[in-house]
Amino acid sequence: MAIPHFLVVGAGIVGAACVRELARAGNRVTVIDSGPGAGLQGGTAAGMGHVVVNEGDTDTLRLCLRGRELWRSDAPPMSERDSYWETGTLWIAEDEETLLQLEGAQKKLESVGVVAERIDGRQLIKLEPALAPDLAGGLRVPHDGVIYAPTAAREFLNASPKVTCHYGVSVKNIGDGIVELTDGRNFEGEAVIVATGISVLSILGEAGARLAEKVSLYPREGHLAITARGTRILDHHIVEAGYQKAAHSTSQAGSKAGSVACAILPRQTDQLCLGSSRRPGEPGPVDPNMMMRVIDRCERFVPSVKTLPILRTWTGARAATSDGKPLLGPVPGLQRTWIAAGFEGLGITQAPAAAELIRQRIMGESCTLDPWPWDPARPYKDSSALTKQENDHA
Ligand SMILES: Cc1cc2nc3c(=O)[nH]c(=O)nc-3n(C[C@H](O)[C@H](O)[C@H](O)COP(=O)(O)OP(=O)(O)OC[C@H]3O[C@@H](n4cnc5c(N)ncnc54)[C@H](O)[C@@H]3O)c2cc1C
Repeated sequence: MAIPHFLVVGAGIVGAACVRELARAGNRVTVIDSGPGAGLQGGTAAGMGHVVVNEGDTDTLRLCLRGRELWRSDAPPMSERDSYWETGTLWIAEDEETLLQLEGAQKKLESVGVVAERIDGRQLIKLEPALAPDLAGGLRVPHDGVIYAPTAAREFLNASPKVTCHYGVSVKNIGDGIVELTDGRNFEGEAVIVATGISVLSILGEAGARLAEKVSLYPREGHLAITARGTRILDHHIVEAGYQKAAHSTSQAGSKAGSVACAILPRQTDQLCLGSSRRPGEPGPVDPNMMMRVIDRCERFVPSVKTLPILRTWTGARAATSDGKPLLGPVPGLQRTWIAAGFEGLGITQAPAAAELIRQRIMGESCTLDPWPWDPARPYKDSSALTKQENDHA
């Protein structure tokens, strides 16, 4: 009997995770990406690598939690330097009011089985002596961690049998089970999984245009910096509690000035990754004012950050949907074409869970999670129709 053949377009962290899921289920997989290799373009190349179970809506929380479980138990084999590192997240409150919000976050996390411990100001300094002494307290989520996504994407493919990769080739259009390249070649498979991040709807022809009438996909730029080696003065991933607000806002227009919140990620390479900002639009060259705002905000929580040498700064885009949820499932109107995109700032965390769900649905298996909240055929709430509270916390 012929081995089923699947096509995966896009070898970012999500496409690469889908490849592994399909390949180890015994299928033949062809991967197509316009970049020079897996994980080297798009959001995956730019992301921070925080694997985080976030206090978003319950669906987001479940997808993050399953993603984290799979990173912890089923990451591809990688060197110690690149593999999952359980740093834990320390959500930090500057004042009593924010500390109260963290209490709410703790309840929500615990309701889905996530371990989260409240920490007072004195304990904070004991845990992380580099923190500012005047912070009110925090919430520690011990099983969150860090993964270096470009390497993980590459290793998802290396760990997969029966995979053929075509790099440096661009896809022009995708029909029902058919992929047309810009160089005139066509590929056909049992099914196509389209995981091209921000460009996904524009290459899906009429079906993409119909879907774009219901949900929009737009870029949110972020600025990050990495310090030189020998500067890892923190053990936890430090995030200010207000970060949630910016991360889960579904407001498409956003403010042109953008928002900035402190997120500092320790890396196994003895470095710190400093972030982060959000503003609407494609990533441009590094804007020194925005970069300085990010570093100033990090300094508020970790005062000595400003003295650390910066090795590199960069920008990247998160692919955000107008209802704040990824698109994960069959393209409405097509039988053999599936979409996996729109993960905003959680794609690295959620990639293994998203890929598992795609495989389970394609192979007709029962699903670990209810797939409907992310199905492209779901009913959409336009962001302008969301209440203020939903815009802030959705
Ligand atoms: C600044 C920043 C910080 C972030 N931090 C985190 C974090 O800490 N934790 C977290 O979980 N997530 C984080 N993210 C989000 C995460 O990086 C993304 O959600 C994730 O990488 C998206 O992966 P993807 O595979 O869907 O898309 P991408 O990584 O964008 O991959 C898409 C792939 O498709 C290819 N492609 C596109 N168009 C075509 C075409 N026409 N033909 C062929 N190939 C094509 C591209 O070359 C690319 O390789 C961050 C993102 C940014 C920008």
